[in-house]
Amino acid sequence: MNKTRPQMTIRGISGSPGICIGKAYIVDREGVNLIKRYPVNETMVPSEIDRFKNAVTRAKNDHAKVIESLDHDLGENLNILETHMVLFKDKMLYGKTIETISRDKINAEWALRKVSRKVKSMFQQIDDQYLKDRVNDIVQVSDKIMSHLVGAQDIKIKDINKRVILVAHDLSPADASQIQLERIKGFVTDRGGKNSHTSIVAKSLKIPSVLGLGRAMVSVNNDDILIVDGSLGIIIVNPEEDTLFKYEERLTRFEAYRADIERESHLPAVTRDGVPLNLMANIELVEEVVSAKDNGATGVGLFRTEFLYLDLKRFPTEDELLQRYKELVELMNPEPVTIRTLDINGDKVNPYIDPVEEANPALGLRGVRFCLRNEDIFITQLKAILRVAAFGNIKLLIPMISCVEEIIQVKVVLNKAILELENEDKIFNKDIPLGVMIEVPSAVIMAEELAGHVDFFSIGTNDLIQYSLAIDRSNRRVAHLYQALNPAVLKMIKMTYDAAQKKGIEVVMCGEMAGDPINIPVLLGLGLTNLSMNSASIPVIKKMVRNMEFGLAGKNVKKLFELQTTEEISTFIQEEYKDILPYREMED
Ligand code: PEP
Ligand code: MG
Repeated sequence: MNKTRPQMTIRGISGSPGICIGKAYIVDREGVNLIKRYPVNETMVPSEIDRFKNAVTRAKNDHAKVIESLDHDLGENLNILETHMVLFKDKMLYGKTIETISRDKINAEWALRKVSRKVKSMFQQIDDQYLKDRVNDIVQVSDKIMSHLVGAQDIKIKDINKRVILVAHDLSPADASQIQLERIKGFVTDRGGKNSHTSIVAKSLKIPSVLGLGRAMVSVNNDDILIVDGSLGIIIVNPEEDTLFKYEERLTRFEAYRADIERESHLPAVTRDGVPLNLMANIELVEEVVSAKDNGATGVGLFRTEFLYLDLKRFPTEDELLQRYKELVELMNPEPVTIRTLDINGDKVNPYIDPVEEANPALGLRGVRFCLRNEDIFITQLKAILRVAAFGNIKLLIPMISCVEEIIQVKVVLNKAILELENEDKIFNKDIPLGVMIEVPSAVIMAEELAGHVDFFSIGTNDLIQYSLAIDRSNRRVAHLYQALNPAVLKMIKMTYDAAQKKGIEVVMCGEMAGDPINIPVLLGLGLTNLSMNSASIPVIKKMVRNMEFGLAGKNVKKLFELQTTEEISTFIQEEYKDILPYREMED
């Protein structure tokens, strides 16, 4: 069947560079389960329907037991639960799922998912509050059936044991971080935008990925042959023979190029006119330290600590945190490690950690806002960081600071943590540099004032671009407007750098912008010498830096600041630096 389907190219957004060729493996998430889609042949349809009916019966029996065990004074709540009893066999859900299994010849989980989504969208368009509320009942019933259906075959990304390319509607950053490199060749998703955390994880795993495809889930079948071109941000489904041949050649070229660059990764990052740069790594997991070192990082400029919390699905204890941080610090010693405190929520939402659903998570209780609201969680982490500081070269970094009050409040909590450690007689080091992320426009505007309270700034362009240009970094529809070289962004970086210089504090850039060669002339031109990036980007940036003149970059940046559009700026850099910008494959 695959052979007869024509080649099709779907365009998305580059999640991480590189090419892979392999078989598609479709997965998706519904509630807390990962759902797989697979066809069932004609003869298997009756048993698939039976499997669905059994799951309904089991879910319904469980539900009846819950009702039985309840206090009968529950009034309204009991009514709702009794309504659910009826919904288990409702035509719209039950009847339609059975119909979908036999009509589409797909597995029961996928059919149920399809039907419940359809019901959901139908109800949502109706302007009647009562009916709208009913949609929640249907979703809850469908979730209950789903958990019985998936049951023992609950798929975890970690457990996928095939050399495949994952195709998903969406993958959370935590899902992506579970990918076993020796098994999964790459992944593609319908959702996701530029510099989403999922793409950041993909880059550090050096696994090709394309995000924001919009329609891969409906266009790709399990076992279809896929080419993922992460560099160009496209996928090719069912490639013809000459396309395959061309891509096999590209793959060889890409691997040779990467090997070539990596061979020089241990050389120092010094410009031709002798200015040394400090190129550090951004990491999400302690295990990434090895690749950070292999890629020639001179420290960890950003340790995103939230992944430990996301993986555990609970709050770790102070000792657990200390243990993990200690592993990292000992591996990295004597180089510096900047530990950023928990930056939960935004696109790193986890119902186990914070069950509240926000309408605008990027503007919600994210990062330091969450930590200041949940002081005990914050203190636990701060204590672990202060304790690990006794073993290495640690800096403490606070995310999402948007006003001076917040850093003052952080210092109050930090002092409480210090006091607790003193009372507990624990070994720790409180003389560590304290820094803030500059990633919210108000922090840029208040940079001079903020500089008076801290020892360093770390410019987080991933969010700074998102918040200053009003572009959701996870939204594929506005990904084309997410521009690091937008003159407004460049002005903000300059304002931050100048404020730090004026106040005599150190400034680092740790956004993905620092890892893209085209931005390097501007960053050096502005005076930045401390850059932290995805460790996979270090070798290529290093090579570029070694070919640049720091003084000349400074002169060029003045001309750049006279330009008014992103396109003019980008064209200027491409022309001015054409001999040293790395070669990029173009689409035919
Ligand atoms: C940033 O916002 O630029 C940053 C480095 O932090 P994160 O990507 O984790 O939000
Ligand atoms: Mg950020």
